[in-house]
Amino acid sequence: MDFSLTKTQQQMAEALSNLGKYVIRPMSLEMDRTHVVPEAFMKQFVALAGSLRSDEVNAALGESVERPAPTRDKPTQANRTALVGAEWMAWADASLLLCLPGPGLGGPPIRATGTREQKKKWFGMLEEKNAAGELAWGAYGLTEPGAGSDVSGIRASCRKDGDSWVINGRKCYITNGARASWTVVFATVDPELGRGGHRAFVVEKGTPGFSVGKIEDKLGLRASETAELVFDDCRVPAENLLGGEDAYGSRSTGFQTAMKTFDATRPLVAAMALGIGRAAHEYARDFVKDRYVLSRPIARYHVLADRLARMHRKLEGARMLVWKAAYLADTGQPNAKEASMCKAAAAQAAVSACFEAIEICGAEGSIQGEHQLLEKWFRDIKVYDIFEGTGQIQRVVVSKRLFPDLRAF
Ligand SMILES: Cc1cc2nc3c(=O)[nH]c(=O)nc-3n(C[C@H](O)[C@H](O)[C@H](O)COP(=O)(O)OP(=O)(O)OC[C@H]3O[C@@H](n4cnc5c(N)ncnc54)[C@H](O)[C@@H]3O)c2cc1C
Repeated sequence: MDFSLTKTQQQMAEALSNLGKYVIRPMSLEMDRTHVVPEAFMKQFVALAGSLRSDEVNAALGESVERPAPTRDKPTQANRTALVGAEWMAWADASLLLCLPGPGLGGPPIRATGTREQKKKWFGMLEEKNAAGELAWGAYGLTEPGAGSDVSGIRASCRKDGDSWVINGRKCYITNGARASWTVVFATVDPELGRGGHRAFVVEKGTPGFSVGKIEDKLGLRASETAELVFDDCRVPAENLLGGEDAYGSRSTGFQTAMKTFDATRPLVAAMALGIGRAAHEYARDFVKDRYVLSRPIARYHVLADRLARMHRKLEGARMLVWKAAYLADTGQPNAKEASMCKAAAAQAAVSACFEAIEICGAEGSIQGEHQLLEKWFRDIKVYDIFEGTGQIQRVVVSKRLFPDLRAF
């Protein structure tokens, strides 16, 4: 496995580093206070990203064009390029990253299970709107008040009625849920069937019976919208069933769709956590260089230098796991275990980097200011150990693979 960045990836990292430093970070605290990312910025960003798009970047963004699945002989760089974008954008501001227009978490299930027509329709809708200067998002609605970690227990129901399906239930904590043009919603034909009962639908904004409930007020990622979605006899056309009816049969296609989403997105979420952890580490490193106590720069105190070295080592170690998970996806190999391992490791390394950075910086670490974002990163990072499966759940996924013959977990 080659760890060097392609030319596109290097250019992307450099461009995002400058954008982050000079444009995004100076807006961070205001976005955190107001819970809003300026629309003008998002429009400029979409236009800029559109003008810079290369084949490699398009593939990383998962645009609607069908591409052959990667293999070991014909690998892609799509997942690794997406990692670079995710890490650098989160290094700049993780809330803003989650607010950027595009399919978001709704993209992977459509790519994994959608028919050719469905991919064209739902990705095409967002691309057209964004190209016309109208901001447009997709979303992913799986979690329910009683089913977060254990998604096999979802209770939102769906029943076939003539040429349509009728959905009832609630989804909670849905990123970009209120603003999304469409959401991939998971429901069950019968809770007794467990995973086998799951179906995935694309529900368009404005569909009668679909409404937005409360918008959450959160500890961190405060500029990112997290919404409750309500389905009250919400009727969607039969063609909105992802993959079409033949895809389900007696198999647990709906559940697998949800899980395949995680194989694609956990490395990305892990890369975002690394971006925040790296930002905190750099902040603490620069702080100790300039800070004098008892007439010595405090970096000279070995206890502090040792802590910084450990933080760096944990972040770099997690990055290796993240890159391995993406490399496996880029070469068409299964990566569920690696996706879970990297998510658990990166979130933990980054949470601990933010925590230790605050301690190292003393009072300055907990004060807000345009150039003092450590306190914000400390709040932002915690959720990376919660969404897309908590750290505990990632360890459950890995341990199941260590004991494949035991069904007692
Ligand atoms: C900001 C934010 C954005 C989100 N965005 C989305 C989104 O876009 N779409 C979406 O569908 N969901 C989204 N979520 C939901 C997120 O995926 C869930 O919060 C997460 O999966 C955890 O579920 P839960 O909160 O219900 O916790 P619970 O499942 O209630 O877990 C509570 C605790 O029990 C532990 N636990 C549970 N089961 C086990 C077990 N078997 N073994 C050991 N420990 C266990 C967990 O680790 C956790 O510590 C978002 C959440 C947040 C906070």
